[in-house]
Parts: sequence; C-alpha cells; structure tokens
Amino acid sequence: MKYYSTRGKNNFVSFKTAVIEGLSNDGGLFMPESIPLLPLSMIQQIENYSLREIGYEISKYFIDGEIPDQKLSNIVEHAINFDAPLVELSDNLSVLELFHGPTLAFKDFGARFMAKTMEFFAAGMNRELNILVATSGDTGSAVAHGFYGAEGIKVFILYPKGKVSFLQEKQLTTLDKNITAIEVNGTFDDCQSLVKEAFVDEQLKSEINLSSANSINIARLIPQSFYFINAYKQLKDKNKPAVISVPSGNLGNITAGLMAKKMGLPVLRFIGAANKNDVFTEFITDHKFNPRKSVQTLSNAMDVGNPSNLERIVDLYNNNIEEMRKDISSSSWSDEETEIGIKEVFEKYSYIIDPHGAVGYQALKYFLANQNIDNVNGIVVETAHPAKFNDIVEKVTQKEIIIPDRLAVCITKEKKSIQIKKSYNELKNLLLNT
Ligand SMILES: *Cc1c(COP(=O)(O)O)cnc(C)c1O
Repeated sequence: MKYYSTRGKNNFVSFKTAVIEGLSNDGGLFMPESIPLLPLSMIQQIENYSLREIGYEISKYFIDGEIPDQKLSNIVEHAINFDAPLVELSDNLSVLELFHGPTLAFKDFGARFMAKTMEFFAAGMNRELNILVATSGDTGSAVAHGFYGAEGIKVFILYPKGKVSFLQEKQLTTLDKNITAIEVNGTFDDCQSLVKEAFVDEQLKSEINLSSANSINIARLIPQSFYFINAYKQLKDKNKPAVISVPSGNLGNITAGLMAKKMGLPVLRFIGAANKNDVFTEFITDHKFNPRKSVQTLSNAMDVGNPSNLERIVDLYNNNIEEMRKDISSSSWSDEETEIGIKEVFEKYSYIIDPHGAVGYQALKYFLANQNIDNVNGIVVETAHPAKFNDIVEKVTQKEIIIPDRLAVCITKEKKSIQIKKSYNELKNLLLNT
C-alpha cells in the first residue's frame, strides 16, 4: 500500500515514510492509495474476532508487508492492550467507552500504535530517533505513555507552563526513562512554534534524527478504525441501523470511523458532534470552510478552530459535499447544553458521562428526534473518562467520581520537568545536549 498527500496525488511514499515524516513536504496529510474492502465473511462472522484480531486484520491491509505479520501481530497486542466496551443504556442507546487505556482517553489507541510502529522502524535505523511534540494536555500524555521505554527513541514533550490541568501535568511529568517534559514559559501556540522552528532547522536535523508525533500521523488514524468495527460486533440487534455520534475537534476520530464505513462496516450515519467551535458543523451545513481562532469550552479537547483532518474527509469523498451529507451530520452545542447533557444522562440512565461525551449525546438525540428514527442503534462515543473532568462532572451530578488507579498513581509521583523560556535557542541547546 502506498500513501499520497492530500495536496498532491502523484507523489507516493511507503507506509514507513508516511509514519516517520508525519506530514507531507507539501503540507498535506498522508492518505492510503485505496481503502480496503473487508471480506463480507469477516463482517458476517465478526463475533469470532477479538478487538486485537480485528486490529491485526485491518492493519495488515494498510501496512501491506512493511512490517512482518508476526511482528505486526505483536505490535497490535501490545498497543491495544485494553478494551473498548459498548455499554448499553437503553434499547436505542449505547456508549462506546474508549477510555480504558493508560491515560484515560481514546488518544491512547492512536498514540500507542504509532509508538510501536515507530519503534519497529527506528530499530532499522542506525541512529536514535528523537520525537518532538507540543501539547495542550491530552495528546502529550498519550504520546509519552505510548513511547515510554521504547528502544532507540527519545521523546521531548513541550507544554505551556501553568496552562494544563493538575492531572494532565502529573501525567506528563512523572515518567522518566526516555521521556523528557519541557515546561515552556508561554502558551500552547508558543510551544507549537518552537516545534515548527526545530523542524525547519537544517543544522539541528543533520545533528539529530528528528521526527514528530502529532495528531495527523497516519499511524494514529488506522488503529482508530478498529474500535468502530468492534462496536458493531457488540450490537445485540445488528438489523437495526447504527448511528454513531463522535465528539469531534481535529476530526481524526470521525475520519477513522468514515474509513471503517468505506471498508464495509454497516453504519447508517456518523455525526460530528461539536462544541461552540463549529467550523465542521458549518462546513457540512453550508459547505463553507472558515477556520478561525478556537474558543475555550468545557469539552476542551475539542477546542479546535482549524480541524486538520477535514482535508482527509474531503479527500475520502472526492470533495463531493452531497456524498458527504449522505454519511455525515453535524451539530454544535454550548457549555450550558453540555452540562444539561451530563445531568440528563445521569438522571435517565445512572451513567456518568464526561463533557465530550455529553456533546456527543446531545448531537445524537437531536439527530434522532429530527429524523423520527426510533428503531436504531444509537451510539455515543465516550472519548475520555469522566474522572479527567471531575470538577465539572461532580458539580453537575453531585456525585463523587472514583479516580481510576492508573490516574491516581501519578498524583503521588514527583513532577520532573525542564523549564525553558519561549526561546528557540534554549530549546535547541537542550536537544543537542540531552
Ligand atoms: C482529542 C479529543 C477529542 C477530539 O478528537 P478528534 O479526533 O481531534 O476529533 C474528543 N474528546 C477527547 C477527550 C479528546 O481527547
């Protein structure tokens, strides 16, 4: 399987190149030259496949021999070492829990798979690979945990001092070994500019082997299709149409779902559920793309004003908005409606949902009410564990949330970070001397 850039379809690269480079030279995102159609027998007998077996079958198509089968099977086993259960709330409503990984958010699926594939490719290089990533919180911890202990790889995570939550900072700064947390006296945008500057610094690149692990890496997208297929497997009545609502920001998660649909997964519709950052809702409704500065909301992992993966969705549908509208709906919800969603899910179903999931719930409910569909498998994708947002969730539900052990352990560990000013020279010296 070859990969092309969404901005130029005549320049094909291998999977390895797509993973190591992350972003194409022309600024486009890598896409597989074709989306494999899963054998009908696999869909019909999906009950016989575990989540990891589904993952292995799908990744074989996309990686196409660039990683030997046995090795690939090990990668999937190690990367996806937790489950993605579908929890039924009522006849028509289920929640797909994607927070059972080490950092309690769905980003663990992508980050761990990417880390393991990069580790495989790094083993074939004669120098150490240095990964540089800027984070506003969740991505950094998933990436740090994914690469923790990886052979031949060092990871540097830049985060803005005082601008991530207490728990997020603990998750970022309490790992040792090959992970270095760099606390930048500045904003997230400053962190991102420093990373970008490093990537165009030819001197630095010739001295150290530099790679990125940002969210548009194709190796983060592929594993996100596994759990949509695994969700379908868990449906009791597969004759009822499935409608899946995905709390969306940078649109990676929903893109993976749409790819699963193209692979043959029977899903009636995907909903891109947005908070007040509604660039995607506007795109689907009015076919206008107007990227803008993000605004802060309760579902902060979706505070994205210029969603990168839109380019992939447009590519997947050959820029045909009518075709997109057949498969995709989108709606946008305020913080107040998010809180109402949390409250309603708790009161109706005794289920504690996080603010991102609550946006997904509102969008699904709205869609089903408008379409007058009632015999349906409605699925809300729950992208994070509510304990990550305990202040708001406890306020709304008046119920204390038990913090899972894997999050609780890092609270007691000592924070270790290197503080720098927002100065590129300081970062460069640090990278050259560590
Ligand atoms: C990153 C994130 C999202 C948004 O996912 P995209 O793939 O960027 O659309 C939603 N919820 C949580 C909890 C996240 O961490």
